[in-house]
Amino acid sequence: MGSLSALGLQANASKNFAEKLANTQAVLRHALQDHALSNRKLTQASSLGAEDVVITHLLETLKAELGLAAFPADVFVLNTGKLHAETLALLALSEATSTLAWRVFEPVQEQAIHFVKTNGELAMRESLDLRKACCHIRKVEPLGRALMGYSAWITGMRSEQSAARADVHAVDTSEARTKYNPLVDWTWGDVLHYIVTNNVPYNALHDKFYPSIGCEPCTRAVSLGEDFRAGRWWWESKEGESAKECGLHVKA
Ligand code: SF4
Repeated sequence: MGSLSALGLQANASKNFAEKLANTQAVLRHALQDHALSNRKLTQASSLGAEDVVITHLLETLKAELGLAAFPADVFVLNTGKLHAETLALLALSEATSTLAWRVFEPVQEQAIHFVKTNGELAMRESLDLRKACCHIRKVEPLGRALMGYSAWITGMRSEQSAARADVHAVDTSEARTKYNPLVDWTWGDVLHYIVTNNVPYNALHDKFYPSIGCEPCTRAVSLGEDFRAGRWWWESKEGESAKECGLHVKA
């Protein structure tokens, strides 16, 4: 995981990276203190991708810095049953070494099995409806369980990732549950710079040119110049392009 890895070669920080980092830390610090004071809980949604390991590392650092009697944040992962071996390996390492509590949510097994039996293993590639149905069973429904009892969540969304994410804000209060997107203005180079300089364990898929981490059947490596999320559901038409989200970040 040194600076000679494929990931290390792209680790070029913005000129104002120090300022961006300070803003990100301020957003997270305020969220943590606010939740601790009011006895509320917040949770980080982690796909075990580069942005998410940065946020987890920032939370761990703030946990040590703030010394709160009861730390109000934890991390959750949606184990869809279709994750890459590299992602599962990083999950196991994170659970074993993190100072934060981790929660893992799986789909309702009967529903997942029934879907595959009825529609086939690769049904998600047959139509947008079937893909969304699979995402609903394996991601959206478990997400609802993961967020139950939490007044806010933290994501690794960045505005640079896609046109659909261009208007993401660092603190989004447009829904009942506040969503913190503390890396909103970070570039890919900023994210990788943080990982390399802080020696943060990261997903081995990034060294195989997977910038966005998802399910194994629905994610491929990208080529130079391709969009960050081009490797997600790549077979879908331009119409599906605007829907390159699994439903986790679609507003109600
Ligand atoms: S990303 Fe693919 S495999 Fe994963 S839940 Fe969505 S359709 Fe299913």
